[in-house]
Amino acid sequence: MGGPWTALGVAASLVACCGAALAQPPSWTQPVQPFRIAPGVYYVGTRGLAAYLITSPQGAILLDGTVAANAPLIERNIQTVGVPLKRVKLIVSDHAHHDHVGAIAKIKRDTGAAFDASAGDAVALERGMPRGDTDYAAIGFPPIKVDRVIRDGQSVAVGDAVLTAVLTPGHTPGCTSWSTTVSDGGRRRRVLFLCSLTVAGNLLVGNRAYPAIAADFQTTFARLSTMKADIVLTSHPEMADVLGREARAKAGDRDAFIDPQTLPRIVARSKADFEAALAQARRAKRVVP
Ligand code: ZN
Repeated sequence: MGGPWTALGVAASLVACCGAALAQPPSWTQPVQPFRIAPGVYYVGTRGLAAYLITSPQGAILLDGTVAANAPLIERNIQTVGVPLKRVKLIVSDHAHHDHVGAIAKIKRDTGAAFDASAGDAVALERGMPRGDTDYAAIGFPPIKVDRVIRDGQSVAVGDAVLTAVLTPGHTPGCTSWSTTVSDGGRRRRVLFLCSLTVAGNLLVGNRAYPAIAADFQTTFARLSTMKADIVLTSHPEMADVLGREARAKAGDRDAFIDPQTLPRIVARSKADFEAALAQARRAKRVVP
């Protein structure tokens, strides 16, 4: 399969993940110049972990914070794209793993923003520890107070910046994709911030803390296969080649981020990986489907 998958291969399956106790990739804390993706949508993350800022004249929404050590870096990036910290009124996340929410507690304190989350991940976020049985020792993160629990289909807004929750559980019980639309040169673009879809060490059979995990993954893949998005943005940026697209945009490609094939490509690959992992887990546990 073409695109970023070819180059990433096994490395992606190792890092596109979670709280796994692997050595942390250096790219996760490596600064990159923040950049504009679409009108009102900015990349404020690092080379290896995404954080997105959705702006409006009335204030901004921050989606994800990356690892705890990056808090000052993410805050600097927010200011670099022209948003004072006090203008960040709301923070949300894609899922409760330390590589995506580690810095949120500090950024929440420094901005005074509210934090909204799905019911499936709210307890993990407030405890600072992921829920679900894994084949690795889970990594905690600074706990975050959840100010409001968001249900599927619910929109959150700061002025004209609006995100709608699309619950896509599996990778975590409350894994949340977020959708929005932007008007780009008069054209309406559907933007999907996609939650992680990798199995990434989760036990698919006999998961006592998250018994519905396999069924949730299947429902998520079925749901995402019916959705369409013009711009897909992932929390591990290499999954949607976010930085490669930025390089092409800088070189003059005005439509570098627009690719309706990104979503079906990621879903097909993730679903195949999930099905292989599930078959292997069932064989190991001698479970007949
Ligand atoms: Zn994860």
